[in-house]
Amino acid sequence: MVKQLGYHQIRAIFDRFHAAEPEPKGELEHVNAYTLVVAVALSAQATDVGVNKATHALFKIADTPEKMLALGEDGLIEHIKTIGLFRQKAKNVIKLSRILVEEYGGVVPNSRAALQSLPGVGRKTANVVLNMWWGVPAQAVDTHIFRVGNRTGIAVGKDVNAVERAIEDNIPADYQQHAHHWLILHGRYTCKARKPMCGNCIIRDLCPYEDKNL
Ligand code: SF4
Repeated sequence: MVKQLGYHQIRAIFDRFHAAEPEPKGELEHVNAYTLVVAVALSAQATDVGVNKATHALFKIADTPEKMLALGEDGLIEHIKTIGLFRQKAKNVIKLSRILVEEYGGVVPNSRAALQSLPGVGRKTANVVLNMWWGVPAQAVDTHIFRVGNRTGIAVGKDVNAVERAIEDNIPADYQQHAHHWLILHGRYTCKARKPMCGNCIIRDLCPYEDKNL
């Protein structure tokens, strides 16, 4: 197993990520905080591309919790039935929309506890919303970040919570805000699960992974 890298090694890696893409962005389409919550909730065990295809039309008619309630569960299902687990996700989106209207005046809260109290919103979803919408340097560890963190030694941990802590503990403060997007994009397009593209990797010389695919 690759050991946790030290401060200077990690800074050198993020200097490269930063130079290549100073403002990395998430790929889930959204038009406001509410649609971001819905998109992230829909993205569990689904690809961002698949979610975007479904939400493109959905968010034109339902971009607030009030409009989503007016659309109703059956109307929502018609839009998202190409996404895995769509029935359960539709139920959660309707329930969380109702709670937002009844308890939060239709406004998405900016605290982790409040976000996580919404149906279908776990720690990862809450962290995505906190990071992308509220500018909080929260780390949403998904399968890509978990793999890249452990493979490269950037953030070593046995489970997603440990990797989240390793990111918070080891990545320089000035790179915390964008860390999770750099790592997701690196994992999605370069440091892929089965065949990492080490030949094209901008951190190849800094990466201690022994089984590089060159
Ligand atoms: S060199 Fe290979 S294993 Fe290391 S980060 Fe790059 S793609 Fe991943």
